[in-house]
Parts: sequence; structure tokens; C-alpha cells
Amino acid sequence: MKVEQWALLVPKKKGEEARQQLISKGLLDTSLKPFVEGDDIFFPLTGSGEGGLRASFEGHEKDLSPTARHELVGGIAVMQENDRVAAEALLASRPGIHTVLATTSDVQGEYRTREFEVLAGVPTTRTLVLEYGHRFTVDLSEAYFSPRLATERQRVLHQMGEQETVLDMFAGVGPFAITMSKFARLVVSSDINPAAVILMKENCLDNRCSNVMPVLADSARLSKILPWKFDRVVMNLPHHAPQFLEEAFRLCRPGGTIHCYALVSSAGEYLDKICTFQPSAVREHTVRSYSPGKWHTVYDITA
Ligand code: SAM
Repeated sequence: MKVEQWALLVPKKKGEEARQQLISKGLLDTSLKPFVEGDDIFFPLTGSGEGGLRASFEGHEKDLSPTARHELVGGIAVMQENDRVAAEALLASRPGIHTVLATTSDVQGEYRTREFEVLAGVPTTRTLVLEYGHRFTVDLSEAYFSPRLATERQRVLHQMGEQETVLDMFAGVGPFAITMSKFARLVVSSDINPAAVILMKENCLDNRCSNVMPVLADSARLSKILPWKFDRVVMNLPHHAPQFLEEAFRLCRPGGTIHCYALVSSAGEYLDKICTFQPSAVREHTVRSYSPGKWHTVYDITA
């Protein structure tokens, strides 16, 4: 049965980029199948698109209840609800899914991880994520990973010059570091979570990144152990990154760039704090909506 839904129409060659952007903004209706017509691809949207276009889509899962809405991370579907019947139906309907999990906690603690219950399929929280030609092995209960940041990683990559030295202060399993290694001379990729650093090392090997240096460290102390000043510093710890700005400015060369991620309730919330370090320039860019009244934002700072 076909369902009429709001749609976004993009040229086929821009399809993957558009898909990643829609996922990162939570705008892709994952219960319906995109379809191709001529040189264009139609994506189903969760709300009304800018152009007000409607189209008819096939459903992915014909008999699933609305509670089967989920986020896909590689071969794992993460559901908000603990609904085993919907989880089994979801597993049966999608050959690419090996496991269905329910979250049993919020993202929490210093390592920014969540707890899960296995609802269906292989009892694991480990999976392989493909993102813009890279392969990331992730373990959702051991180390943070979000596919919603794929577009943001590309945005930062395309700001880079050639042969930059980069520091990723809160690197997790390495998705920013490995993405940026494409244009970098060296990427130092640091995290305080040993499990994340082990996965990061595996991911560097898997993606043949010989210019990424994994480091297990508290980023508050990095300037004491690293002898370099970097062209670019990434601070992707939205709950606390602004607290580490002093260390980031110590580690960034004058004229270099710091990408400081933060959760904000209003535009410009951290500008006063950033300006105490006398940057040459600051631009603020919204990454996505985080929760009602809160945004995940990034300050692109020229040191
Ligand atoms: N950048 C990665 C990504 O995009 O998937 C991970 C981001 S996650 C939001 C933040 C990471 O910071 C976690 O992996 C956590 O272990 C790490 N972290 C938290 N406090 C830290 C600290 N003081 N020093 C180094 N890493 C820290």
C-alpha cells in the first residue's frame, strides 16, 4: 500500500548527501522508502518540506505499530519504547538490521554512553557503520557514537586547508578524526574512555589512516603532554566543551580554528566566555535541535 507524504526532491548524484542531512536533522521518515524517478530521488519527510511537495511512498514495514519508530546505527535499530513485538517485526522486515535495542537510560556520565536492553536479534551493542566511504566499528554501550553528526563532520572537513595539523579533544571512536585525516598531515585524536580509544585504533587500521594518533588522556591536561600547537581543534563534548576553552586556546596556533560544540537555549549564549580569550573571529552555526528549547550549536572560532 502506498502512503502520501511530504517529500524532498534532489538530483540522484546528491542523494547520499541529502539523505545524511535529513537523518542528522531528524527529518527523514524512515518508515517509508525513498524512490527514484529519472535523474531525481524523492525522500519522505517527517514534516512539511520547504517546497510543499507531496508524493506517494511504499512503506518499509507494512504491519508495524507507530512504536516501531527507531534510529538506525549501522545494523542496529534503537527504539525508544520497550516493545518486543514491534522489535521482532522490525527485525523481520529489514535484512540490514541484525539487532533491535531499547534505550534504558539517557546519554550519561563522563563517557557519554547509554544503557540498552536487547529486544530482538543478535544480543550485541556492537555494529559497523558506513559513513561517506568510511567504516566505523561502534559499541553503543561502551563508547559514544551518533550518526546524526555525519553532515557536521563533512562541514568541518570542507573548511580544512591542505596538510593541517588537527587535534580532536573528545574523539570517541574517531569519526571526526578519521574523516579529517583525508586533508590533514597529522590528527591527534584523544579521549578519556579506554574502550573508545581501543575502537578508535581499530577504526584507524580499518580505514588505513596512518596519520591519526590515538591518545588516551584527559583533555584538560593535553597541553602538558603534547608539544605542538595545532591548526585546528575540534571540541565535540556539547555538555561541557566550553569549560575546556582555555586548554583549546593553549593548543591552537594564533589564526588557527577551534570548533567548540555546545548545548544552548539562545543564540550567542557562550559568546561572552569565548571573547575573554580575545579571538580574531567567531561564527555560530546550529547543528540540530536537541530537545524542546535546546540546540546543539557549534562556535567556529578563529584564535
Ligand atoms: N567526537 C566523537 C563523536 O562525534 O562520535 C565523540 C563525542 S562524545 C559527545 C564526547 C566524548 O568525550 C566521549 O567519547 C567521552 O568519553 C569524551 N570525554 C569526556 N570527558 C573527557 C575528557 N575530560 N577528556 C577527554 N575525553 C573526554
